[in-house]
Amino acid sequence: MTQEELQKLFDRYNRKYWRAQLPRYTVVISTRWHGGYCAKRLRVIFIHPDIAADDRRAKRTLLHEMSHASAPSGHGKLWKAEMWRLKRQGAPILETDISEYVSSENVPTRSDILQGFYDAGLELPDETWAALRRNLGYQHGLVDDHGRAEDRGVARLLEKCRGKFLKGQREAREMREARTEAISSAEIQRRTATLQPGRTRGKRDALGLGVFAVLSS
Ligand SMILES: [Zn+2]
Repeated sequence: MTQEELQKLFDRYNRKYWRAQLPRYTVVISTRWHGGYCAKRLRVIFIHPDIAADDRRAKRTLLHEMSHASAPSGHGKLWKAEMWRLKRQGAPILETDISEYVSSENVPTRSDILQGFYDAGLELPDETWAALRRNLGYQHGLVDDHGRAEDRGVARLLEKCRGKFLKGQREAREMREARTEAISSAEIQRRTATLQPGRTRGKRDALGLGVFAVLSS
């Protein structure tokens, strides 16, 4: 399935199973995550190319991620309730898509934790690692209230979390820079347009709107 097909499927499933109440996510085929991943603040659902290549798996994975979009994080009760509802409504998922998460009820897995740190990096590009380690690390029970790791295994996991967090921050900064570049090139176009004689005011306004669209996207 192509990215465009997955995007259309997202819109169709949103109408069919959520009465179009889910916010619109962009579906991206990417090797960034194994399987699928729902980045809530970015409003992006990532699907691995191996999964996208298999229509049935692509549909199941998309519905799994869309259930994340509609429920609080993790594979807890609310996520499962969404999945059971989809199953009852005849959505193309399997019972095993839900039952494989039974043992992890409300307990974040190692990969949930790592994803959480990556997300935090995307969302907080200016936060220091020390502060995040204290806050998010404490929330996940990785460090005590003095910021100490419980044991060497946890310390190693924290190192991985740090890597994910810094990666998220790097990507957030790259996105911010790309956006700034888009704005300044639109600005240059607009200024060039005003310098050219014979251009109508309407034309300038149209370009001005273009800048606005970039700023608000
Ligand atoms: Zn999941």
